[in-house]
Formats: sequence, structure tokens, C-alpha cells
Amino acid sequence: MEVKPPVVVILGHIDHGKSTLIDYIRKTNLTAKEAGGITQSIGAYQVSLGKNKAITVIDTPGHEAFEKMRSHGARAADIAVLVIAADEGVKPQTVEAIKDIKEAKLPFIVALNKIDKPEANARKVKEELIQYEVFVEGFGGDTPALEISAKTGKGIKELLDLIVLMAEVQELTADSLAPAKGVVITSSLDSQRGVSATLMVKDGTLKVGQWIRLETTFGKVRAMHNFEGKLVKEAPPSSPVMMLGLEGLPGVGETFRAVVSQEEAGQDILPARETLVIDKVTAGEKNLTFILKAKEKASLDALSKLFSQVQTQHADIKLQIISKGVGDVSVSDIETADRFGALIVGFNVKIPSIVRPAMAHREVNIKIFSVIYELPKLVSELIAQQFASQTQAAQKGELAVLGVFSKSKEGQVIGGKAVKAVIKKGMTLNIKRDEEIIGKGKIINLQHLKKDVTVVEAGKECGILFQGDEVKVGDVLIEAF
Ligand code: GDP
Repeated sequence: MEVKPPVVVILGHIDHGKSTLIDYIRKTNLTAKEAGGITQSIGAYQVSLGKNKAITVIDTPGHEAFEKMRSHGARAADIAVLVIAADEGVKPQTVEAIKDIKEAKLPFIVALNKIDKPEANARKVKEELIQYEVFVEGFGGDTPALEISAKTGKGIKELLDLIVLMAEVQELTADSLAPAKGVVITSSLDSQRGVSATLMVKDGTLKVGQWIRLETTFGKVRAMHNFEGKLVKEAPPSSPVMMLGLEGLPGVGETFRAVVSQEEAGQDILPARETLVIDKVTAGEKNLTFILKAKEKASLDALSKLFSQVQTQHADIKLQIISKGVGDVSVSDIETADRFGALIVGFNVKIPSIVRPAMAHREVNIKIFSVIYELPKLVSELIAQQFASQTQAAQKGELAVLGVFSKSKEGQVIGGKAVKAVIKKGMTLNIKRDEEIIGKGKIINLQHLKKDVTVVEAGKECGILFQGDEVKVGDVLIEAF
């Protein structure tokens, strides 16, 4: 057995400075090689703090991973840093984090951040923590609390030293000769590379060529990259590695272990490439269906969770997720959306050009966003839009005449813009001129962008073949019931 570097997770309320702290630690402890190139995060990194001292920092955004890990009973982290902005104090996600830390029985340090701000009041926060049963040094307990500034760097060296000290006290050890075991930090599906997953080796050494068994899938380690993006053949305890070679997409927090054969790895486990959950879609006006897409399994899980929270804010509308999956928007997503009238909500995904033709003749609403906490706002907007169009449906369609092109015995060719509700082929319209109805006619043919269509919504321009009384530029055509 030998001492292993501690794996640290940084938790706290949004905007309290987690990312800034993670970036600061990384930047100020870069290895010479890494400094030259831009390294993409694999979900965790390791910094060396002098002789035989290192720490591994989990840097997945928002640490959605954490809760999942706890629920799997597998802990990726050895130590937690609870970041609290000293100018704001304890906030809802701080309370959540305290709960998580306690349930996982993780040793932790309170980092009172933004101490550079004049409004910062570390003492007040320490007092406030008492009611959440966090007793820091000098306030009835022995939980260490440090004042830091992730912006200026104040106190961060002390924080790192304290983490190392805490690890020593914990006597974190591992056996690098043992078969590897650990936890999935993040996983993603890529059309070119297939499944890739970042694993945190908790014990033993993981080697290229080994078979591994996870909870929902298995695979053979084809290649491993360390956090610097370098190909490595072995991953020792506490090292994060991004590996290729899994049969299916594992969930965040799943445990893995190296095994000796493919049989043991689990041909019995079905590959879980995509989760498609089509529930029954209940009919009714107050029902909004969604298809969720995200780049990574962790974000997809976080999205689903946020959705259930958003649902509680809209008790009168049933928000239903009919399908969800990892990866870019696919043709099958477009088809499913069209079939069920669902909205596609994508987090950090793309709409590849091969999908565009499938979208051309379908009215599919796709929203792509990149800040996870924008989801509630986005959903509220979609609900508002949906209801606006439902109220419009009860309104009469209205078309502003912008151009009159030709007249034949088939009718008049008119260019216009739908200004209210919808304009439909076959609709009978009254002609309004100077606030008076002066005649009427019928839409024989309707075109949008030079293509025949049956409906044009408000805001869109269209061309119509109109049979009836004569129309002039400036007239308004109003649906006649
Ligand atoms: P996260 O949501 O917890 O990851 O928070 P961020 O790291 O994104 O920080 C939120 C905001 O606070 C950003 O505008 C940061 O620049 C700022 N911030 C973070 N740490 C400090 C700090 O120590 N001092 C000051 N003044 N601002 C900070």
C-alpha cells in the first residue's frame, strides 16, 4: 500500500466562484509541458505541489456528477471544498452541498471566497453555518475554514496545503499493483470516436488492453489519454483518464473494475448506446412534449433533473420528455419531434448538416442552449409561446397586402404578410379597406418561400392566388368565419 493523491471536489452555490477557483488552481500549477498547449478538460486534472505531493481536482461543470456518485454509493472524491461567497453567505445550493457532503461522510474545508470584496463578511458566514450544523474552527467545531479570493489568489496556496495535510491525516492509500477499480466521472458519445469516458482510478492501476466491467456496460481499454491529452499506457491511483473502447455509454458515477476476460467483463450486459423513452403522450391542451439532447450523460441527467424542478413551477401544464439521448440532434430526433409535435431542447449539441434536409419540410422547433441554468427560463418562454399561439388560434387570421402582381380568370396573385393567427389555403377572407369591408374572396393557392404550403403563421410572408373581389396594395384580408 502506498499513499495516493487526494481527489478533491469543489462544491457550492452557483456564482460563488467554483469555476474561478478550479481555473486558478490549474493555471498556477501548470506543468511545463502543459503550459505550451491548450488542454481540453477531461473532467478532472491533477496538479503537483512539490515533492511527492499532488492533488486531483474534479472539474466537471456544476458537479452534477456528485449527486449521482453518492447515489451509486461510490465516491469519486476523498475531500470536498465547500465554496461560499463571503459577500452572499449560505444559499440554496450551499445547503444542498452540505447535505451531500454529510451523506457521503466526506471530510471537507469551507472556503470563504470573494474575500477581496468590501462587502465580504467571513464572520457572518461562519455564524450562519451553525444553523446548518457546520461548525468551523472558532465557532464550536473543527471544520477548517479559510478566507480566499479565487480572483486574486489570496489564500489559495494555504487551501492547497490544507488539502494535502487533510489527506495525510486521512491516510489515503492505494495498492498500485491491485486490479484497477474506480468511478466514471463523465461520458460522451461522438459520431466519429464512439463512446469515451473519463474514469477516476481509485485503487490499482488501469492498463491499456485490459477488460473492464461497469454497471451497465463493459469494454476493452483501447486507448487512454491523461488530463494533459497525452496517450498513456497506465493509469495509477487517483489519476483521471479518458478512455476509448466501451461498448455502451456508462452513467456518471458508475463504478468500474478491471477483470481478466471478456466473459467476466460482461457480454451479458447490454450496451446502452441510447436511451429512448417514449412514454404515452397524453392528449390535451396543457401538455408540452420535449426531446432532450445533451453532449454528455452527466449534462443529460442534470437536464432531466432540472426539468422535474421546472415542472413544479408549472403545475397547470404537463411537461413530458418523450425521448432523451446523448449526442447531436439526429434525423430520428427530427422525425420523433414531428410525429409527436415535440420541441427539441439541446444542451451544448449541434445540428449537423446531414440533418438539415430532414428539417426542411417539417415544422420542428429546436432550441439549443449552453448555460444549464437557462433551462427554466427557456421552458417558460416556450410555454408562453405555445399558449400565445393557442390563443391566436381562436383569433381570425389576417393578411396585410403588400403587392398585387397579376390578374387572370383563376384569380389575383397577391403578396402579403400574415399579421395575425394563421392564413390557410381554402380560407375565405373579407377585404378591408379604410376600416370598411368592401368585398371578399377565397385563397385558391398559398405559397411560402415559393413553395406550396397549407398554412402560414403570423409574421411570415406569403404569396396567394385569390379568387374574388379586387384587392389593392394596403388592403387587409381578414378571415371570414
Ligand atoms: P461558479 O458558478 O461557482 O463556478 O462561479 P464562477 O467561478 O463562475 O464565478 C462567478 C463570478 O464571480 C464570476 O464573475 C467571477 O469572476 C466572480 N468571482 C469568483 N471568485 C471571485 C473572487 O474571489 N472575488 C471576486 N471579486 N469575484 C470573484
